Formats: sequence, structure tokens, C-alpha cells
Amino acid sequence: MNETLIESLVRENVRKLKPYSSARDEFTDVADVYLDANENPFQNGVNRYPDPLQKKLKRRIGRLKDVDPQNILLGNGSDEVLDLIFRAFCNPEIDNCIYTKPSYGMYSVLAATNAVATKEVLLTKEFGIDYDRLMAQVDEQTKLIFLCSPNNPTGNLLKISTIEKILLNAPCLVVIDEAYIDFTDSPSWTTRLSDYPNLIVCQTLSKAWGMAGLRLGMCFASTFIIQTLNKIKPPYNVNGLTQDKALEILQNEEIFQSNLNVIKEERARLLEKLRSVPTLQHVFVSDANFILAKFERSNEIFDYLMNKSIIIRNRGKDALCEGCLRITVGLPNENNRLIDALMNFQ
Ligand SMILES: *Cc1c(COP(=O)(O)O)cnc(C)c1O
Repeated sequence: MNETLIESLVRENVRKLKPYSSARDEFTDVADVYLDANENPFQNGVNRYPDPLQKKLKRRIGRLKDVDPQNILLGNGSDEVLDLIFRAFCNPEIDNCIYTKPSYGMYSVLAATNAVATKEVLLTKEFGIDYDRLMAQVDEQTKLIFLCSPNNPTGNLLKISTIEKILLNAPCLVVIDEAYIDFTDSPSWTTRLSDYPNLIVCQTLSKAWGMAGLRLGMCFASTFIIQTLNKIKPPYNVNGLTQDKALEILQNEEIFQSNLNVIKEERARLLEKLRSVPTLQHVFVSDANFILAKFERSNEIFDYLMNKSIIIRNRGKDALCEGCLRITVGLPNENNRLIDALMNFQ
């Protein structure tokens, strides 16, 4: 797909709109006296507007991810990033999007919020994509295909060759949600941005980087797509405290790496331990920081754990997930408490 085709996917009103130009957009240099933004001059740490394009933070993230800052958009969590994608490309009541089942619940919520029709494509029994089944759903009004890899709530990576085929043949944008990419050894799709102009990769600082409370979502795409999203984003969508704190935590790659290693080791240990739980029927191998497992009497187990003050997620109502519980990998002692409780369930 070429750039002209991508341009034709943008909503007409978005293509035509002239973005709001903030004081911080119009003057980006350094000065002594700032009397341009109607800010309060008394300093308290947050009296100035933050950088609307988060240049410093993007430089850091760009270095970390090996992506040029002009190919990065940051948002108030991935949810904002995904919402911006809907609003830039999908005409309400006209266009549609495609996502797999089971997958992350926000795609359908954001589609409904934006009055965009949805087409759900069931994964295979092994939680893979059936290419023909998915492509059969694509029509003239399809603007977005969401693929989550590693997938939530199943934990598996989606096959690279299938995604490549979709990127090549789908006449729309393909959004790959990589919220859990740091927990796998598979390369990020950000390494393929220059191959596919219709590729959008979403990541987050909420999971492996441990900053769920900050709300910082990342989007990687062609310069054209990033510029389009920049046009419609709220000018100061990532607040100053978030930018500062993210920069601070991102400085320390050693802590990140050692915490990540613990989580990966605990994931392997938890997986092994789960195999000896008497009520376990199946445990799915995971490339994320959680494990999906199928149990006999799963609803009872869920309540039993809750009574023991251990909260996991019941995914039994998701497609293909009957009897399945989703367990986030915690600290070693937390995982031990879970395993002890499960071993004692009768
Ligand atoms: C957790 C998660 C996110 C992250 O959302 P944030 O809004 O950035 O916290 C995105 N996608 C999936 C599939 C997730 O599981």
C-alpha cells in the first residue's frame, strides 16, 4: 500500500482541519520572560503548560525503541492513542473495524463510542489468526484491523507470517497492540515500520515499565500517520508530571531489566506449579505477564480465591475461554500464596 492510499483513509473533516495552535507550539525557543500563555507566574512546579509534543520524552523513548521521534505519538494511556486512531480514520455510522475474539475489550468500547461498526473474527482453537476468515470480513468501509500480540487474555504471540500477509493485502490500517511486547523475545513490529505504510504499532508504559498509574501510551507509525494524529490530539494530552516522572523512571534501565527478569522467571515457575494443581485442565504458554489457565469448577475457584483475598480475572465468558482464569504474574510471595491456595482447593 502506498502513501496516497493511506491519505485517502483519513476522514475528510480531519484532512481539512487546521489544528489548534497553542502558545507552546508558536514559541518553542527559550526566553527569560513568558507572557504568552496566560499562565500564572507564581511558581509551584506545575504553573507552566507542558510541552505539547513531549520532545524530550520522545527522544528518550525513540532511543530506547530505536524509532525516530517523528514516528512517535504519545497519549494519555493506550486508550487515548486508540481513540485518536478511531477519530482520525473512521467516519461514524459509515466505517467499520475488525478485531479478533477473544482480545482486549477496549477495541469494541472505543468503536461503540465512536459509532463505528465492528466485525469480530474468532481466533482458531490455538488462538491463532485464520487469515481467510479475517480477510473475508474486509470490505470497502473497513478502516482498521486490530491485532493484539502477545494477545490479551490468551498470552500468545500471533504468527509473524500471517500478520505480514494481512499488512500486505488489507486495504486499510493494521493496528498491532504490543502492550506486552517486552515480556517476549520476539522483535517488535516497530522494526518493520518502513516496510508497511499502513502499520500502526501501539505500546504502553503500563505493563513491563510499571507505570500504569502515569497513563502513558505510545504509538509508532509513518510520519504521515503521526502528523495526522497530532492534528486532532488535545494540545496538552500528556501532562507535565507524567512527562517528568516517565523520563525519570526510563533513565533506569537496570531496574527495568532486573524486574522484567524476575517476572519472566516467575512466569515460568508459576506455569510449572499450575501444572500440579489438581483442578487444572490446561495451562496456556504465555509471552505476556499473565497466564491463562483452564480449570474444572473455575467459577468456584475464582470465588474461593476472592474469599482468600486473592483477586484474579475470570475470563470464562470470553470466546474460546470457557473455564479459563487469567492470572497476572506477581511477586514471588504473591505467586506462592496463589499456588498454595489452589493446591488446597477442594
Ligand atoms: C493493558 C493493555 C493496554 C494498556 O493500556 P493503557 O491504557 O496504556 O494502560 C493496551 N492494550 C492491551 C491489550 C492491554 O492489555
